[in-house]
Amino acid sequence: EPVIVWFRQDLRLSDNPALLAARDSGAPILPIYILDTETEGEWAPGPASLWWLHHSLSALAGSLEAAGARLWLKRGRADKILAELVREVRASAVYWNRVYEPAAIRRDSQIKTDLKEDGVEVRSFNGALLAEPWEISTKQDTPYKVYTPFWRALKSTVTPKEPAPRVTSVDGYGGAPASDTLDDWNLRPTRPDWAGGLRDAWSPGEAGATSRLNRFLDKALTGYASNRDCPAIDGTSSLSPHLHFGEISPRQIWQAVEDRVSNGPTREGADSFLSEIGWREFSHNLLYHFPKFPDENFQNKFDGFPWAENEEAFGAWKAGCTGYPIVDAGMRQLWETGWMHNRVRMITASFLIKDLMVHWKRGEAWFWHTLVDADLANNSAGWQWVAGCGADAAPYFRIFNPVSQGERFDPKGEYVRRWVPELRDLPNSVIHAPWTADKSTLRQASITLGETYPHPLVDHKKARERALEAWNKIKDAA
Ligand code: FAD
Repeated sequence: EPVIVWFRQDLRLSDNPALLAARDSGAPILPIYILDTETEGEWAPGPASLWWLHHSLSALAGSLEAAGARLWLKRGRADKILAELVREVRASAVYWNRVYEPAAIRRDSQIKTDLKEDGVEVRSFNGALLAEPWEISTKQDTPYKVYTPFWRALKSTVTPKEPAPRVTSVDGYGGAPASDTLDDWNLRPTRPDWAGGLRDAWSPGEAGATSRLNRFLDKALTGYASNRDCPAIDGTSSLSPHLHFGEISPRQIWQAVEDRVSNGPTREGADSFLSEIGWREFSHNLLYHFPKFPDENFQNKFDGFPWAENEEAFGAWKAGCTGYPIVDAGMRQLWETGWMHNRVRMITASFLIKDLMVHWKRGEAWFWHTLVDADLANNSAGWQWVAGCGADAAPYFRIFNPVSQGERFDPKGEYVRRWVPELRDLPNSVIHAPWTADKSTLRQASITLGETYPHPLVDHKKARERALEAWNKIKDAA
């Protein structure tokens, strides 16, 4: 009688509590992955995430094969597929690591109840967070809505557990019915194949995650606190897609960082980096306690906000053709690589929401579609933070100025030149505001505004005033 290990956002063999418990049970193991886009509905993975998933599953299948088990794949509703499989192979138990998305929680609790009624043992584990969202609460026993006290409480109440040992060999169950193949699912784009930039930028899978982490620890941890805001520098870990798919766990990251710090580099870089892992925990905490976070303004006074239906402007933003170089660089980096630097995510989001007055949910959906690290908790928290309507959000009236942000965080214009090459020959003094350059400078740089590079879509000063007027109208609402 096999134990089924249901893989979801935990595509790894190290520090995988569900897999380890199954191995320790002594029963043969049947590892499965179910592509259940029906249950996930609107928040089923977008095309960039599906590209990642294909490669991550392929890597996982390879590791499991080497350990002695074949990964069983099926597409469809997880509740039905699991119930049938359990009957067919007479499984004694089903184990999984938890996912904190509202649709998954609803589905998983129902599956748990149903299987238990049928006498099947069901166990779920924490493989994705340093602390469970229900473990951290205020003195009044309510969930935290502010990051700093949340993180302080988490650090003082939870000593991150040691990562669980890697499962290197298992007794694989041989009698499973026919499985789908990854190629049946067609998760990779073919005509057109837009994934070239993704292939160049990433190595999905557990081994890719480990080498990213090691590279970051070797090269960037020490300088992280100061470099993390500069998009031209490779100063952050780029672990976000690996973390989303669970190719590495926050416990493993925590431990690896602590091991390094005792070996020398500054504490400052480590603390700053771990506090970003803390933002991930906080976002998951918000999503767990406020399941409408991806879909509704957390502060309901924003429900009456006069958003603009501005299709043309939204299209120019998506295409990286707004005429604001730092915004365009970010949107093109996203399109090309499936990832965008955090500072630029804030700048581009602010530009869409405040300069163009397009609803934050439209930006959230575009990021969902194009990011390889698209994550329901982090994405919705990021958008609500910038919009000013979230929990512990930036105040609405804090409007990023795309020119001064560019000058401050990309002073030499290197990031802009990399992603907006038509501006390559502009001097640094005007690279973030080409419309301020005189005619001869533009001519020397072979730029004709409106032809080789767009005029600014809006005048930031006027757009800012318009946004503040709209805000003034709603700010006193309940
Ligand atoms: P590092 O600086 O190396 O940080 C390490 C890890 O900490 C990240 O991999 C990530 O898991 C976590 N982290 C860092 N910053 C944040 C943050 N602000 N909120 C939550 N977790 C964080 N992150 C996603 O993983 N998926 C998303 O869909 C996503 N959408 C975003 C949308 C907007 C509008 C904004 C402003 C931010 C969004 N973020 C999202 C958060 C952040 O931009 C990315 O996590 C970060 O840029 C990933 O790069 P990194 O791995 O090099 O980060």
